[in-house]
Amino acid sequence: MKCGICEIGCQVPENGYGKCRMMTARGGVLTERYPDSYSTLFPISIETLPTLHFYPNHKFLQVSSMGCNFSCTGCISEILARGTESMPAVLKQMPPQKVVEKAVHEGCKGIAFCLNDPTVSFFSFLKLARLAKENNLLVGFSTNGYLTEQALEALIPFTDFVNIGFKGFTDEAYQACGVPTSGPVFRNLKRLFEAGVHVEAAAIHMKGFEAELARIAGFVSSLSRCIPFQVMRFVPFGEADIEFEPTIRESEALCAELEKELAHVYLFNSPGSDRLNTLCPDCGGTLITREFFGPMGSRITAHLPKARCACGSRPVITGEVAEKRYDEHGFFGGYRTTRAFEMLHAILVCIGAHDPEKVSELWFDLVQTDYLKEFHETVQLPDAYGAIIDRLALKTGCTEAGHQLKNFIQNTLARIRSKTLDVDRPRVYYAMGYPLFALNAERFETNLVEAAGGECLNKQLKRKGKPGVTLTREEFMAMNPDLIFISGFLSCPVSDFYDYCIRHDLLVNAVKNNRIYGHFPLWDFGSPRWVLGLMHIANTLHPEIFDFDMEKEADEFYREFFNQPFDRKTANRSFYRASR
Ligand code: SF4
Repeated sequence: MKCGICEIGCQVPENGYGKCRMMTARGGVLTERYPDSYSTLFPISIETLPTLHFYPNHKFLQVSSMGCNFSCTGCISEILARGTESMPAVLKQMPPQKVVEKAVHEGCKGIAFCLNDPTVSFFSFLKLARLAKENNLLVGFSTNGYLTEQALEALIPFTDFVNIGFKGFTDEAYQACGVPTSGPVFRNLKRLFEAGVHVEAAAIHMKGFEAELARIAGFVSSLSRCIPFQVMRFVPFGEADIEFEPTIRESEALCAELEKELAHVYLFNSPGSDRLNTLCPDCGGTLITREFFGPMGSRITAHLPKARCACGSRPVITGEVAEKRYDEHGFFGGYRTTRAFEMLHAILVCIGAHDPEKVSELWFDLVQTDYLKEFHETVQLPDAYGAIIDRLALKTGCTEAGHQLKNFIQNTLARIRSKTLDVDRPRVYYAMGYPLFALNAERFETNLVEAAGGECLNKQLKRKGKPGVTLTREEFMAMNPDLIFISGFLSCPVSDFYDYCIRHDLLVNAVKNNRIYGHFPLWDFGSPRWVLGLMHIANTLHPEIFDFDMEKEADEFYREFFNQPFDRKTANRSFYRASR
């Protein structure tokens, strides 16, 4: 039978499923495969969704399910979007009444469906939204906006806010995501706006796609130049190609262009950039200050009362700003949860765990035991990484491959540590993105520096963010590091970092002596490939001791654990090793 929920319009066979793999037909009736089932159900701050001009700083109950009607490359939620067959065990069933009670009990202002698209859990979400409104909760969602007109009309009476994520402007851009045309998304944004729903628009900035974003911004501004526009700097999460990642500086330049059309253009995934702040539309004064708070997320660090400018202006913001901010714990909140799944998945890939039944049992076990809480603590410690591998290897029957990976990592760690016991320790600062964004004291990367014979100055930090905090210039200058590492692939190339320091008069020793280092194309966190990052750090801190040939080491690692040679261009990709 034909599904009329999204514009793909699948013919769903009896007991089969449509493109999203979430809708089925039973007895000639279209129904969900996993009704009232959620992969996440916990409070977040609304800036984590992210929504920036709707009840800022307020707490909402985040709900998400699994599956997607789109198939975009480089999707940050890929593990959830494609997990309908391998990970359904992470879904917990909860009737709408209980979800609403949970939201009220947790003191949430409302309910927000995000991470994957509510389209694929349409009937459950519609029931939940209706009940939430009856209980005076606000309701919203983030979406690719591909609902049919009828499905959208059914939701509108129960919807207060929506964030539509655009994939591009042209049909071709949407065809790359497996759907025929872009038209329905623009139609739906217009309809929501005209129906009085608070809307925000988001678009991914991939290198080379600037013209697409300019055309989207043009459409949005034709509705209202006050609609917040979120530029999501593309970061190659999962296994996406590195070559599409623009630098923070390139994305900032694009934002400056888009600001000619729109009053509020924000830049995400760009630690240290000030383009997350809300400025007065009249005089340009800063009204709300935000900082990077994980993938696609932000958090408020300061704001003027009622976000009103001294000049008397106030940007278009729905609802008041909550005085007290809600900070999510650990991996709970926004795309940090999918990042945690991704890190676990990266280990499964390295140990060749691809027996669907065993992998499904593993996910069930991890969810039932609330493992994400424990994982958040242990994944920051290089010495505890072996235990994570053991747990995953045991559950998936890949103990031999698990031992091999664990031994390789532990032996490398021990070898490097043993040679740096009595050395002079260079004073190292670990930034992410621009210079003033410092990784948290307990982050994994700071522990790698110490393991490689450095003194990591980030350990002195008392404040915490996700994954770090913005320093003042004074704090940065007082640290005066001898050497700086920049986390991530291309967010901030060394030359941009150096220029930023010169322009902002951040002349610490590391800058004066040109001792700033990136990691491209190696890893320093998450995937077991961090062991290559450790070697790179050891080489950099103590060239008198270490001389790892990084191309050779990387090639051996990739051949051993991914069944493929190392290639800088595709270094982010991995393939399952053969089972042993
Ligand atoms: S919601 Fe799923 S089954 Fe229905 S049309 Fe869209 S992709 Fe197909």
